Order: sequence, then C-alpha cells, then structure tokens
Amino acid sequence: MDNGQQAGNGVSKTACSVTPVPDGAVADICERFGNDKHRMLDILREVQDRFQCIAPATMDQIAEETGLTRIEVEGVASFYSFLSLQPKGRITIRLCDDIVDRYAGLEAVTAAFEDALGIKIGETSADGAVSLEYTPCIGMCDQAPAAMVNDIVLTNLTAQSAREVAEAIIAGKRPEDLVSDRFATLSPHDRAVRMVDNNIRHAGAVLLGPVPEDAGLSKAVSITSSQIISMIEESGLRGCGGAGFTTGRKWRFAAAERTERSFVICNADEGEPGTFKDRVLLTERPHLLIEGMTIAARAVGAKEGILYLRGEYVYLRELLEQVLEERRRRGLLGKAILGTKRFDFDIRIQMGAGAYICGEEGALISSCEGLPGEPKTRPPFPVNRGYLGYPTVVNNVETFCHAARILDQGAKWFHDIGTEGSHGTKLFSVCGDCLNPGIYELPYGHSVWELLEMVGGQDAAAVQVGGPSGAMIARDSFHRKLTFDDLATGGAIIVFNGQRNILEIVDYYMSFFVHESCGYCTPCRVGNVFLQKAIEKFRKGLANPEDIDYLKDLSGTIIETSRCGLGMTSPNPVLSTLANFPLVYSAMTQPSKDGIRATFDIQSAIDGARKIAKRRSYIFDRDFTQ
Ligand code: SF4
Repeated sequence: MDNGQQAGNGVSKTACSVTPVPDGAVADICERFGNDKHRMLDILREVQDRFQCIAPATMDQIAEETGLTRIEVEGVASFYSFLSLQPKGRITIRLCDDIVDRYAGLEAVTAAFEDALGIKIGETSADGAVSLEYTPCIGMCDQAPAAMVNDIVLTNLTAQSAREVAEAIIAGKRPEDLVSDRFATLSPHDRAVRMVDNNIRHAGAVLLGPVPEDAGLSKAVSITSSQIISMIEESGLRGCGGAGFTTGRKWRFAAAERTERSFVICNADEGEPGTFKDRVLLTERPHLLIEGMTIAARAVGAKEGILYLRGEYVYLRELLEQVLEERRRRGLLGKAILGTKRFDFDIRIQMGAGAYICGEEGALISSCEGLPGEPKTRPPFPVNRGYLGYPTVVNNVETFCHAARILDQGAKWFHDIGTEGSHGTKLFSVCGDCLNPGIYELPYGHSVWELLEMVGGQDAAAVQVGGPSGAMIARDSFHRKLTFDDLATGGAIIVFNGQRNILEIVDYYMSFFVHESCGYCTPCRVGNVFLQKAIEKFRKGLANPEDIDYLKDLSGTIIETSRCGLGMTSPNPVLSTLANFPLVYSAMTQPSKDGIRATFDIQSAIDGARKIAKRRSYIFDRDFTQ
C-alpha cells in the first residue's frame, strides 16, 4: 500500500489508527472477490471486519484494484451503517434501539454498558478495544433488549447481564465465548439457537409443521416450467413481504424474457421494526427456502441465485453456507440438478451491511451490484431488467418457502387455506406488551382480537400492524381481519398497552425513517424531518389546531412525490394515528393567543439579526442597559 505514510516495519499507517493495514492485504481481499466492482460490498465488509475501518488510503487501493474511482468506493463505504470511515473498536457493541427495546429496559442496559466500559454511546475506548453504539431494529423484538457484539447476538439483556458482558470483554473474552466455551465445536444451527430463541408459538400446516424433504423440487423437475408457473398462479400465492404482488405473474414476466442470463434473488433483508419471521425460517427451514429458490430458477430459466442476508443476521451466514454446500453435495444445487439435463443453478450469499432501505427491491439489487443501496427508477421492472441489467425475480424468504410447499401439496391445497383474495398461511411476528411474543403461523382471515387472545395481549390499547410503514389501530378496529384486503401486513404485529405514549411511538418511528431514508429525494429526506419536528411540537404541547392540517398536508406531499416505498409509507405512523387516535393530538393542541403561535419564540427569531447587526434589541433584550 502506498499512501505516502509507509512505515519502516512493512506496515502502512492510515487514517485508521486502530489496526494498521499490512502491505498487500487489501489487494488480497480484492483478488478473492475477483477484483470485481460488483462485489464491492463484500470487499468493504471484509476490510471493515479485519481493520475496523475503511481508511482513505484503503479506499484508494480498492479503487485501483477494482477499476473504480475513489469517489465511487467512498460512496458505497459511507452508505452502509456497518461500514465506517472512522476507526471502530476491535469489538463493536451495537445496542438495538427499537421502541420495543426501549420499553423493555434499554436505558438501564445502556447505562450498565457505559458504566462498565467507561465510554458513552457513540464512543470508542482509548485503547481501541471496544466501541459502543445504538443501531436500529436488529430483528430480535421478541427477546428485547438485544445487542450485537461483532457477529454475535445477545438477547433478553438486563442491566446485570450487560455489566457481566462488558466485564468479560474487558477481561479479554472473545465475542463467541460469550455464547459458549465450546463455540467452535457446536454446529452452526446450535450456535444460532443458543444466541437467539425461535419462539415458535403456533406452527401452521404450510411452513412450520412437518415438511417432507425436497418433495416440491422433485415435482418441479417432473413438469414443465410453464406448468410450475401455472401452479403458483392457481394457488393464489402473493408476495409475503407486504406489497402482495402475485408471485405467479412475477415469475411469468421473468420467464417471458429471452436472454442469456437471468437471476433469482431472495430478499432476506427484513428490517421493518417488529418483523422477525424470516429470521425463524432462515434458522429452521433453510432447506425449504433454497428449495423454493431452486424451483423459481427452474420456472424462469435462471442459473444464478443470490441470497441477500441482512447484516444483522450475519450470525446465520455459516448455517446457510453449510446448507448450500450440503445441497451441492447432494445434487440439489449445481449442474444437472436431480439429474435433470440443462437444469443448472447455484446460489451465493450476499451480506448486507445495515441499511433498511435495502429491503426495497431496487435498492436490494443495487446493493447486490456493489452500489449504495439506492432504489432504482421504474420502469424497467426487475423482472425485465434487474440485477446487472438481466431479468431478475426477487421474492422474500416466506414466499419462496410457500412456493416449495405448493409444488409439493398442490395449488388447490394452498388456495383452499385462508380467505378469498388472501390464500394460504401467514407468519406473524408478534412482540411488545403481550405475554407470548414470538412467531404464529395462521391462515389469513383471523381478526386482530383473535390474534391478541392467542398472544396474551388482551390489554392492548393500540396495535401496530405491519410495522411503522403499516397502520397503528385502536381498540375499535380490533375486529378487523388480517388479510390483504383489510389489514395488509408483511407480518409485524407490535402490541402497546394503555401505559404507552402514542406520540412517543410516532416520534420514534419518524426518527427511524429519517435515519433510514437514502436521501435521494428531497420530500423524503427533508419532509420526514419536518414531520418529526412537528410531532415534537405536539409532544411538548406547543402545537396549534392548524398543525393537524400541516401534518396531513406534508404527509400527502411526501407520499405523492417520493420515488420509492419508503417515502410512500413513511408518513403512515402520523396518518394512521391521526385517524385512529385523534384525541391524542387534539389534547396536545392549544389555540393561538393574540395571533401569536404558542411555538413562536421571539428571542430565537431575532437572534440572527442581533448577530448580523452586532447589537441588541431595545424592546426584547431584558439586559439591554447592562
Ligand atoms: S423515497 Fe426516500 S428512501 Fe426512497 S428513494 Fe426517495 S429518498 Fe430514497
């Protein structure tokens, strides 16, 4: 490495003072990924993991090795929250800052970590040993408060256990030793379930009940591609990530494209606060998922697949790699699958790096291409021109698992479960103020009340259906049905009892969207900040009745003018609580007195003029004569 600061010991000094980067190390990393610019995220993740930061000189060298400009490399490095241009500790503790974690005791856990480590949130210890920071939802809401210690997940933390973890780290324990002294000898599955409970509370007939091995794939190789798609169409399967697009149609569009390459991508980037169902499928049904992806590949003629795994689920990578390897050995992936001529398909895992927006289809494809996770303009749609410009089918984990079961059990079997328009079962991830948080696989059509009875959440005063981008409903709507046509949801159900402050929850959700906006469009980047500021006014009791109209108008503008689903749904916490909890807002407003808004602060208003004129005000400065 040549950054003008070569040290005499063969080790280069970089802006990252934590771990100097040895000569040749960056080139080696790039070479392992074929110096391919499309593998930029993998390259940067590995540099981050080994050297605790992406230093300027390192970016120069990566740019040289991959044929990109330094600006392009920095654009990726600065986009993802798990990558850092500043030195991080050798161990980074990321505390999940979800609202559910806050209500479960995050403040005490944070205080214990800060006290024991001697650093504050956002700081790195002077010896570079440990960094402490907050991160948005890590998908462990059923066992909050939770944290990531490098790749290791810790759940159900208390002030006491947080202190013990901090002391163990100070004493030199490795993150994996926090899980087990025999960590290295445990199977990947055992490691995963030691860290994270699956909390399967109700297993349904489709996904979490008994599943015969690869019966769906065996069926798929015995029929034509067109017949596979017809089965999926007839089953009524719709995408389970929230949007609900008809899966069979998506596959048919992709199959109709005549190109030399096409792709199947699994979106395992569930990042909506309160959603953790795919985490359980990835742990307990990984073969079913890969089977579903392989069936999709046969249906659309794809030879290459990508499993995009969210950065927060890095603890599952080894388990999934093992499953892929096993399936290659058994002839279920690779060349001539199950001995079928011209049926070749294999999958690579693409790790994310802490960006919620990458759950959006276009952003996810950008991320797979080694770019910042920014959504793409449509059309063209991914089924026509997606990954690297080729037709690409993107479905989520649950959808692929359903597809495999449909091939095995038949379209009618699946179609007959659920309701008209919402066929099959749905995995609900339930958390918050209830006795039995966890995963419930239920046919579509249950009411919110029925679900609350199952989970022990009858005291609920509010339920967030579908995460922050969904709807917050009040008790008078608990009779509504969990279906695509009534209360559509990707699966997240967050229960709030009557002690919770609705405006505090809305404030938190808006801060989440502000943090996660990719910043491409102004209405989303700026509008959500204004929405959050307006909610703060309500919380402080400084709002006027007219501010309710302001919230509605601004929300409408953001929805209409945003480019992707994040901006189109980010005002939902505001709009759904305005609709369902109007008294919460009106109780916090007060009419203007003497034509002056309660929020108007004359001192701040004239402060700029004071500085420019370099003098004070006769009228408003109480200390003018001093
Ligand atoms: S709506 Fe928001 S997240 Fe989506 S592209 Fe625009 S700025 Fe990015």
